[in-house]
Amino acid sequence: ALTIGIVGLPNVGKSTLFNALTRAQVLAANYPFATIEPNVGIVPLPDPRLEVLAGIFGSQRILPATVSFVDIAGIVRGASEGEGLGNKFLANIREAEAICQVTRVFADPDVIHVEGKVSPKDDIETINTELILADLQTLEKAIPRLEKEVRGKKAEQGLLDAAIGARTLLEAGTTLFQGAAAAGLDPEQVAALQLMTAKPFIYVFNTDDAGLADAATQADLRAFVAPADAIFLDAKFESELVELEPDEAAEMLSETGIEEAGLDQLARVGFHTLGLQTYLTAGPKETRAWTIHRGWTAPQAAGVIHTDFQRGFIKAEVIGFDDLVETGSIAAARAAGKARVEGKDYVMADGDVVEFRFNV
Ligand code: GDP
Repeated sequence: ALTIGIVGLPNVGKSTLFNALTRAQVLAANYPFATIEPNVGIVPLPDPRLEVLAGIFGSQRILPATVSFVDIAGIVRGASEGEGLGNKFLANIREAEAICQVTRVFADPDVIHVEGKVSPKDDIETINTELILADLQTLEKAIPRLEKEVRGKKAEQGLLDAAIGARTLLEAGTTLFQGAAAAGLDPEQVAALQLMTAKPFIYVFNTDDAGLADAATQADLRAFVAPADAIFLDAKFESELVELEPDEAAEMLSETGIEEAGLDQLARVGFHTLGLQTYLTAGPKETRAWTIHRGWTAPQAAGVIHTDFQRGFIKAEVIGFDDLVETGSIAAARAAGKARVEGKDYVMADGDVVEFRFNV
């Protein structure tokens, strides 16, 4: 599954953030999810286009796309050596598509910092070091095996080269996400090695009011974690925000001058980091956002609704969201020549409003 693993040192606000995420999931009405797992938070991807479409079509319900976060407890200094939850923790990270690292910026003398002082950069280094050490352990086993396989013509030289290049980077203390492209490593071969630091990273800086107003510190931390995305939020505030009715929450946000709730930012950034986009379907029953990978073709996109749609795909009628809003209805969009008929090679664009034609 396309999940984002939440990691971080103890006492940085992971549970607070995760509780807010799971609360947001529970509050999101009419979700087609049968089971709610205790360590998974499935949150809606905010998309103002859905309300607009639902208005045009008189839809009874709206189903947004979702992003899944999994709470990965137990990273501490020494985790790669089996400290804390050790191996179980590493297995959980391996299963996630992306890693969201929660880092403490807030200063609160009542909340103990495990390393003795609040220092986001040091904390990031501590966690990265554990992940780097775990990857080096993986490579220590993989490289001799690959050498043998290359000699026996059972593995490609390119894969071995990537493994050796990766080891060099990791030994220099650089994660593959930050350094692999610059070092000229083949992205496909690196991906095939299934190393943890090659996954995309997102940083959540858990910040108090003073920190949210401190643009210089934010810019410095953003630069430090680039090319990863960084989000600054106050986990405690977010956990209070999800308890409010939507209109109350909006009022609270505008009072505090925060443009977008932190959880909404996290859902958006997470979705983007996973390489996903949505297309939209709308009718009197429901308006719905469907999740696909960027670059997918129309038949692949149809397959998300039903495998039969992909197998029997004939064509897609596509109207851009803006064109539909401008013309006001599908019929008007057709009359204005804004409805396009696309074939099986069409690459989906974000916000396409689609109706598929297919054989059963
Ligand atoms: P975890 O160990 O990373 O899961 O951290 P928790 O979410 O349990 O938070 C540890 C402590 O820090 C708790 O007492 C929280 O109430 C507090 N805390 C979490 N986020 C914030 C914050 O943004 N500001 C302040 N002042 N305290 C926070």
